[in-house]
Amino acid sequence: MVDFENTTIAFHQKNKNQLKKAYWLFRMLANPVMVKVGSFFTRIAIKTHLPVSWVLKPTVYNHFCGGENIDACDPVIHKLGEANVQTILDYSAEGKELDADFDYTKEQIIATIDKAKGDQNIPYAVFKPTGVARFALLEKVQVGENLTDQEQHEFDLVKERFHAICEHAAKQGVPVMIDSEESWIQTVVDELVEELMFRYNQKEPLVFNTLQMYRHDRLEYLKNFVERAREKGVYSAFKLVRGAYMEKERARAAKHGYPSPICSDKPGTDQAYDDAVSFCLDNITDVAVCVGTHNELSCQLAVEKISSLDIVADHPNVSFAQLLGMSDHISYNLAAAGYNVCKYVPYGPVKTVIPYLIRRAEENTSVAGQTGRELFLLRKELKRRKS
Ligand SMILES: Cc1cc2nc3c(=O)[nH]c(=O)nc-3n(C[C@H](O)[C@H](O)[C@H](O)COP(=O)(O)OP(=O)(O)OC[C@H]3O[C@@H](n4cnc5c(N)ncnc54)[C@H](O)[C@@H]3O)c2cc1C
Repeated sequence: MVDFENTTIAFHQKNKNQLKKAYWLFRMLANPVMVKVGSFFTRIAIKTHLPVSWVLKPTVYNHFCGGENIDACDPVIHKLGEANVQTILDYSAEGKELDADFDYTKEQIIATIDKAKGDQNIPYAVFKPTGVARFALLEKVQVGENLTDQEQHEFDLVKERFHAICEHAAKQGVPVMIDSEESWIQTVVDELVEELMFRYNQKEPLVFNTLQMYRHDRLEYLKNFVERAREKGVYSAFKLVRGAYMEKERARAAKHGYPSPICSDKPGTDQAYDDAVSFCLDNITDVAVCVGTHNELSCQLAVEKISSLDIVADHPNVSFAQLLGMSDHISYNLAAAGYNVCKYVPYGPVKTVIPYLIRRAEENTSVAGQTGRELFLLRKELKRRKS
């Protein structure tokens, strides 16, 4: 068992002022009115080109992001590394539409691969499919609509970007994780990623797909994929998450009158998540897994399973991942216990990462959930240092 309430370990890199600042920030994020108004004005400010960096940079940005470019993330990478917490650099441009933007993002991802190659604190690279592809195009491909010549060319460019990134990752020996997205584009993404997994995972788990376990079809998909990969003699590699788009998924399913792809309740998702982790660990010799969650119980269950199977804590095929600025009590305590742990470290110019920051803020608007836990632990540590 790992003691996630050990706040001495969890916050040993933060001084009192930093703890107080984090506490203040989570208090703000726990206030739904504040977050709604803040997000609304930030969106307007961006559209009307009003400056927002001066307020965002010293607050949410510095808490959740590594820096405005790769090199600016060095102090964060180094500091995390001192606690044996590793970094996954995440260029967080979202919602782009133009090929020029997608090419730029591709170059950024390739630069993160080069950075990872030279830095033992960076074990993986990552990218989000819609960082290199237009959402509406993927949607059209998924439903099997005829593409115009122009769209076919655009889709060919998307495939080239996916391939170029993975080819470069293979050349540098840096595993790459591909994020998962909404179900109405994920089938196309899965097809692209599967092809890359079959090509590049022959000698080692190099390309990771992401499975959202809030989808009730994913456990079966996982088992089926592992079987197919085994037949081809390649490694399976998955980042497991619960899934970030539940409300959107349910709303769309209701609107279009198809059954929601999401488990009917939270315990259903939790069960599917823990079953998937367990399945991967049972098959550790040819399945690599990254346990991407802020859920303490899921991490605890994974730790128990690792121990019951006599898998060494730092087995190269198992890692845990959390987002920078969240759940340090999980990351730092797991790392102190010898597990492979990473933080997603988003980076990019303040304006570029604003959609990511708004998502973070909106996801944290519940004192009852994750934010309540952060506040409780920060309070506990501040109290401990007083006594
Ligand atoms: C390192 C990392 C990488 C990530 N990458 C991705 C990614 O590529 N794609 C992606 O979509 N998300 C990604 N996420 C976000 C992730 O999917 C979750 O939204 C987030 O981590 C919260 O889930 P949890 O397991 O941490 O915690 P928990 O608080 O235990 O779970 C919350 C999640 O449970 C599910 N849930 C909540 N209520 C219900 C309900 N009533 N019925 C059914 N399910 C419910 C939802 O998925 C919700 O997000 C990532 C998260 C991390 C930490």
